[in-house]
Amino acid sequence: MSNLIEIKVPDIGGHDNVDIIEVFVKVGDTVAVEESLIALETDKATMEVPSTHAGVIKEVKVAVGGKVSEGSLLVILEVAASAAATPAAAPSPAAAAPATQAAPVAGSHSGAADYECEMVVLGGGPGGYSAAFRSADLGMKTIVVERFSKLGGVCLNVGCIPSKALLHNAAVIDEVKHLAANGIKFGEPEVDIDALRGFKEKVIGKLTTGLAGMAKARKVEFVRGIGRFIDPHHLEVQITTGEGKEVTGETKIIKFQKAIIAAGSSVFKLPFVPNDPRVVDSTGALELKSVPKRMLILGGGIIGLEMGTVYSTLGARLDVVEMLDGLMQGADRDLVKVWEKWNAHRFDNIMLKTKTVALEAKEDGIWATFEGENAPKEPQCYDLVLHATGRVPNGGKVGAENAGVIVTDRGFIPVDKQMRTNVPHIFAIGDLVGQPMLAHKAVHEAHVAAENAADHKAFFDARVIPGVAYTDPEVAWVGVTEDEAKKNGINYGKGVFPWAASGRAIANGRDEGFTKLIFDQDTKQIIGGAIVGPHAGDMIGEICLAIEMGCDAVDIGKTIHPHPTMGESIGMAAEVFKGVCTDLPPQKKK
Ligand code: FAD
Repeated sequence: MSNLIEIKVPDIGGHDNVDIIEVFVKVGDTVAVEESLIALETDKATMEVPSTHAGVIKEVKVAVGGKVSEGSLLVILEVAASAAATPAAAPSPAAAAPATQAAPVAGSHSGAADYECEMVVLGGGPGGYSAAFRSADLGMKTIVVERFSKLGGVCLNVGCIPSKALLHNAAVIDEVKHLAANGIKFGEPEVDIDALRGFKEKVIGKLTTGLAGMAKARKVEFVRGIGRFIDPHHLEVQITTGEGKEVTGETKIIKFQKAIIAAGSSVFKLPFVPNDPRVVDSTGALELKSVPKRMLILGGGIIGLEMGTVYSTLGARLDVVEMLDGLMQGADRDLVKVWEKWNAHRFDNIMLKTKTVALEAKEDGIWATFEGENAPKEPQCYDLVLHATGRVPNGGKVGAENAGVIVTDRGFIPVDKQMRTNVPHIFAIGDLVGQPMLAHKAVHEAHVAAENAADHKAFFDARVIPGVAYTDPEVAWVGVTEDEAKKNGINYGKGVFPWAASGRAIANGRDEGFTKLIFDQDTKQIIGGAIVGPHAGDMIGEICLAIEMGCDAVDIGKTIHPHPTMGESIGMAAEVFKGVCTDLPPQKKK
């Protein structure tokens, strides 16, 4: 038996005539309890109104552009008779955090200003420069404040780009070595480390010069210095000079109408890490001063493993220590296993479930003491230690509280789906608003923030954000992982295409990888995917698009991919899920 019930707008904090900015459901849709029906926007926040019952939508009574108040009828839902009495759920504001923490008391500045602008962007990383460029493109007079001499932030200067410049060289060296098995021998590579460092610097220079040109072309003003809010409309900048962030003693005041905070993140440093040039973070490792004989990587995440790959190819022996039970957390274990097998030759010790508890700088090296399941009994000596145990947000370091902006204890700045902080004219983006700390997330958030600041309507509502380890082989994943699906009891199915059956992978001599797609068994839509193998990171974008578009296995499998390519493996994995793949032995009928 079933009943028809009315779902109405619950208490939405006393707001009346609130704009409907999105309707997530249509007639015939099946919705679960707590599933969002519509999104509303007040002048302070956006919020989603969830369904109080599970059922099938029979009528939708609202549309985008309409307005609702408490009690307005949203949908008519057909529910099982027994479910009709479920209690109402509260609306779930996207800006959950701002509502739960008291806003700090803002400062007040009544003095003069050296600059005036419609938009100030604090921080010139991928989030910051993208926000500044988009703001300027939308007609706002924009200033970007950056403490270093160049735009680009961590990503361009000491992150994504320099690491990939070095990884590319390492991959070519490794590839050439593999050619020996095909009868092509080049001999041992001679590495001029100064020239290699020079190449990396040239790559950075090319990109940062390009950014400076693009800023100029848009008339985005660059103010070089350390910025700090002094009230909700003024930023004080301590002007800096030189290569680093040395202050000159000069101070400038910027008066702004709107602001985007994009001050990024910093390396998390364990308390016992000594101040010694033989102990480096990722920035120090990228300086590539020399190649150690024995190197310890503290932390088995992506950054540590990428840098370890470079140093190992250049000749270092690696140890890695990781507190958790596996390297490259976040990726499915079957992918990581392939990477581990391919890279086993680089490592002397992979110490899982083990902690480093002391590092001592001595004349002959850095002595590390470990504790845990796989800890060596005696301290170990290393020529170089890379600490790569994570990054912390810079939200607490920019005087945000003087502008009345809430910052969490951990230094994150909470925002809603429009990237708005609790102060409506101040936005925040990038590493300092939350995980994952990735450049592509920062850039998308930047566009959303700038567009809202320019009074356009935009939302950060990406279904998925991909992650990639640019190791060799690369490991890339997006959406629901298989491990997560199992853990959360999702009714999933998978299609796995082993690269051992790919003509192109075999021709490349690299058939160790595989492509895996995860489907929701109820809707048959793709909800996740992962690839391990060379260029996995270049291919994962197709799976991202498929998830965003709500594709099912037929959509993907029937899309003609060029042959012979590794991209074909995505179509074939979908065919495997459907049981129609002819590039593998016959499958059991589904
Ligand atoms: P940032 O890039 O950190 O930029 C913030 C900027 O703000 C900095 O330039 C900083 O100097 C400036 N700033 C901070 N405080 C102030 C202040 N008070 N006044 C003035 N200026 C200030 N991500 C990927 O997506 N792909 C990768 O391959 C990848 N590889 C990485 C490799 C390494 C070694 C590292 C360390 C990171 C990597 N990342 C990668 C992460 C990526 O770099 C960050 O997610 C990204 O840079 C975040 O962008 P953002 O704009 O939020 O912050």
